[in-house]
Amino acid sequence: AIEVRELCKTYGSNDVLKGIDFHVDQGEVVCVIGPSGSGKSTLLRCVNRLEEPTSGVIMVEGIDITDSETDLDAIRTRIGIVFQQFNLFPHLTVLQNLTLAQRRAKKRGKREAAEIARRNLEKVGLAEKADAFPAQLSGGQQQRVAIARALSMDPDMMLFDEPTSALDPELVGDVLGVMKQLASEGMTMMVVTHEMGFAREVGDRVVFMDGGVVVEQGVPEDVLGDPQHERTQSFLSKVL
Ligand code: ATP
Ligand code: MG
Repeated sequence: AIEVRELCKTYGSNDVLKGIDFHVDQGEVVCVIGPSGSGKSTLLRCVNRLEEPTSGVIMVEGIDITDSETDLDAIRTRIGIVFQQFNLFPHLTVLQNLTLAQRRAKKRGKREAAEIARRNLEKVGLAEKADAFPAQLSGGQQQRVAIARALSMDPDMMLFDEPTSALDPELVGDVLGVMKQLASEGMTMMVVTHEMGFAREVGDRVVFMDGGVVVEQGVPEDVLGDPQHERTQSFLSKVL
């Protein structure tokens, strides 16, 4: 679970997050939507301390990750992250991409890491691509490999930052399908997305951000179907 309280993030004179209260409960799927520059990625990146918060508290699985005593590496292995760009190593095969971090951060042996990798490749529908190189795969396949790589670390939760935004439209569905399956298996998920269909169908809760604040949140039917705030209405009229 994730619990964020009064989170502020400032770059120079730019207040990007202005007191965010945000939480993702165990097993919950929370979709974060909002216009470009509203601070969605910054919030997501603060959750595993890729960004240093200016002030506020962030608890991950009950541990305060803003505390300087906290072992960040240990926390980070519990949080899987998938970005818009797949960030696969081009010179490694798919299988090697999936075993590398397991061996380094989880200290798994070669055979065990490969077994776990193959299990997760099967899960994302790419068992037969283990020996391919990233460049030989479509964007959608590469993104599913990135998801399988994150899952191979046995994360407690998954963070997604616009995982389908770089994909050709016909490849989006496969990736969303994998994410939907993960959600149905009870994975705790924070998903920054422009896919309103996914948010509506899979999200337990939708959070609308604008200008560094959470403007409105609730179940998808309410936030997407009957938004209360003018800013939410205006945003949705542009994207729906
Ligand atoms: P998008 O939908 O375009 O991805 P976003 O909601 O994810 O937008 P952020 O990437 O969180 O928005 O950016 C919020 C604001 O913070 C923007 O004004 C951006 O210019 C600023 N910002 C983000 N990262 C940095 C950085 N490393 N240094 C300075 N400013 C930054
Ligand atoms: Mg972003």
